[in-house]
Amino acid sequence: MTLSSHIKNIISHTGPISISEFMQLALSHPLYGYYQAKEPFGTKGDFTTSPEISQMFGEMIGAWSAHIWQQMGCLQDVVIVEMGPGRGTLMADFLRSTAKIPGFHNSISIAMVETSKRLQELQRNNIGNMHPRISWYEDVKSLPQKPIIVIANELFDALPIRQYIKQNGKWHEKMLGVDKNGELAFTLSPEIKMEGKLIENAPENGVVEICPQGGAIIKELVERVKMHNGAVLIIDYGYIETQYKDTLDAIGGHQHRNILEDIGALDISAHVDFQALKKAADTAGVRVFGPTTQGSFLQKLGIGMRAEMLCKNASDEQKHEIKTALARLVGNSPEEMGELFKVISFTTGNIVPEGF
Ligand code: SAH
Repeated sequence: MTLSSHIKNIISHTGPISISEFMQLALSHPLYGYYQAKEPFGTKGDFTTSPEISQMFGEMIGAWSAHIWQQMGCLQDVVIVEMGPGRGTLMADFLRSTAKIPGFHNSISIAMVETSKRLQELQRNNIGNMHPRISWYEDVKSLPQKPIIVIANELFDALPIRQYIKQNGKWHEKMLGVDKNGELAFTLSPEIKMEGKLIENAPENGVVEICPQGGAIIKELVERVKMHNGAVLIIDYGYIETQYKDTLDAIGGHQHRNILEDIGALDISAHVDFQALKKAADTAGVRVFGPTTQGSFLQKLGIGMRAEMLCKNASDEQKHEIKTALARLVGNSPEEMGELFKVISFTTGNIVPEGF
């Protein structure tokens, strides 16, 4: 069976499905979903993430987190939570680079939140013995009720979204159905009622993307931070103000591809609406910092100096690699990540995160 025929089968029983149902199946089906079945990361995979580009990324996040922990009064029993850790590279660099901070490693435990069984296994192999207290969880709800410092790099873009479009002044949900020839095809729901400021301001043919799972995760994290103290750091590609655009995209082998082809073999993602994240956190009553750009954030954390230090003992070839990686992480061109990626943080109490 292919994932495509499985989806057609569902549609033949229930009628058209939402984009979020489609994304959930394509990315996270327990047998055929993309994160379960494929190795997405690296030059041979479909995309490269910041921690995979350079050790400096995880090092900066490590220093950022240690600084938060110090502001929490070097508290005992703080949980460092990484959500959607991929290959575990960020956490490996985090742990290696923070090992000498007095008291830090003794005070923390590590919680990896990962839905893919295959990636959990890979993470265990890569970092399982780097700290005495590392555990794995499938969702935020099951995390221990303790102070937390949460990191999520490129998680929210992978969460399923629903899409709504305004046509002739009326709202419809974008759905996936089958056409006359029995092939998968996008279609629109009958008219639906939509409300709110976002909806009122939408232009004709404007698309509103909503990420219910993202909203639920933020809600859970905010409640925990308010109850137990802590901070959350979210880094992802996305926009600071709602764009009213369809940002759904499929990537295979570093190329844009048709979303309905090779389902389960392509990475499907959407841009993250940082305005919505900010609003959700503001409403819940935590302190919000950002959104800012990844370039500005990393520069303020001192990534430039770290690159210079690494260059000191490096060969010419290594120096070139370090400089290329730095440019990719902080540069402003559309191929670089400095401007495209945004960073937002939520904290409680008097905690002021670095980088904003
Ligand atoms: N943070 C990593 C990987 C990003 S890819 C990096 O920067 O390299 C997205 C990751 O999120 C994958 O590990 C995927 O399996 C995981 N994931 C997807 N949906 C998730 C969810 N609902 N909860 C936790 N992890 C999820």
